[in-house]
Amino acid sequence: MSQPLSYFPGLRFLHSPGPTHVPKAVMDAMSEQPMDMADERLDPLIADCEEGLRSIMKSDDAEVFIYSSNGHGVWEAVTVNLASPGQKVLVASTGHFSDSWALMTEAMGVEVVRTPYREGYPIDPADIEQALGADRANEIVAVYVVQTDTASSITSDVPAIREAMNRAGHPALLVVDVVASLAAAPYGMDAWGVDVTLGASQKGLMCPPGMAFCAANARAIEVARANPANRFYWDWERRRGAPSYKKFCGTPPQSFLQGLRTAISLLHQEGLDNVLARHRRFAAAVQAAVEVWAEGGQMQFICQIPSARSVSVTTIEINGVAPDMIRQVAREQFNVSLAGGLGPFFGRAFRIGHLGDLSAPMVLGCLSAVEGTLRSLQVPIGSGAINAALDALKAQ
Ligand SMILES: *Cc1c(COP(=O)(O)O)cnc(C)c1O
Repeated sequence: MSQPLSYFPGLRFLHSPGPTHVPKAVMDAMSEQPMDMADERLDPLIADCEEGLRSIMKSDDAEVFIYSSNGHGVWEAVTVNLASPGQKVLVASTGHFSDSWALMTEAMGVEVVRTPYREGYPIDPADIEQALGADRANEIVAVYVVQTDTASSITSDVPAIREAMNRAGHPALLVVDVVASLAAAPYGMDAWGVDVTLGASQKGLMCPPGMAFCAANARAIEVARANPANRFYWDWERRRGAPSYKKFCGTPPQSFLQGLRTAISLLHQEGLDNVLARHRRFAAAVQAAVEVWAEGGQMQFICQIPSARSVSVTTIEINGVAPDMIRQVAREQFNVSLAGGLGPFFGRAFRIGHLGDLSAPMVLGCLSAVEGTLRSLQVPIGSGAINAALDALKAQ
């Protein structure tokens, strides 16, 4: 028999930037019995989820495709629908997530052009303008952009990227990964001229991991129709229209859809603007604490541009102690789960997630636990971080 988990009284705080804490109302909705496939409540459930996702992405008419997969699955879905082997995609380098997406795209036989990666900095729209300008034959089908790179905790300026594409006068589609930023950072699919948006359930959308989606505007649907790449399960064309099970290429993930519909209704009950403002306040509190800790000379933000620091997650470089040690002490002694460094930050940094279903005392509890962890590991830190976090909460 495996070792029983020891019992921790009280809440275990989940401060990874996905999966995030799942509200009880979402858990409850997911615990209902499934319906039979002819149940008349199934189609409205699917329609509510599609409409709800459009309302959060701010699109009037993008077509939504929901998959029982994680974010990586919809990366593949988007590529196989938009590009065929031998065609080209431009990936804006932001670090670990754009890299993984690029490698997957190459594995599918699609050629990838990358913009230069600059550690600590958001995407420079001029790099995109230049790469598109150099593509005189218009071979690049799409530009892939990660709005918030969850590894570096940097958010890039999507409207500025769209403007750069317009300046280049290039017809490539703009595809944006909002897995870590939707329902946390501002987003406007239609207003920002985004052609395809893709996201997943387990971050700002407050559902468990296991479901993901993409949304395509009319231009993207056209490109997909003309694309001869072999595909079936991910194929947008096969997923259109009634009966509803066609939309999922088989049985719909009903429990997830119940959870998603509830989560979206919670976001609307709070009000989307309030949700975004709450994420701004919590991020400001975390960043204020990190600034004070950094006075000890052992820690620093990975993101060098304060205005580009993500509202979802903060990546902190630390010297003199292994980030895994911090995670272990925080988890085992303080009941708080943090995240580690990914890609270029593996072994160099740890991350505090601050997105999704959180309240101020949860964020303050997490920060106190991190402070307790740093003290117990004798990391030199400035004093007054929790006060600074409280002031930041008040100031917003
Ligand atoms: C988490 C994440 C992904 C990958 O999602 P999975 O569900 O883990 O496959 C993709 N992009 C970004 C920006 C993410 O934060």
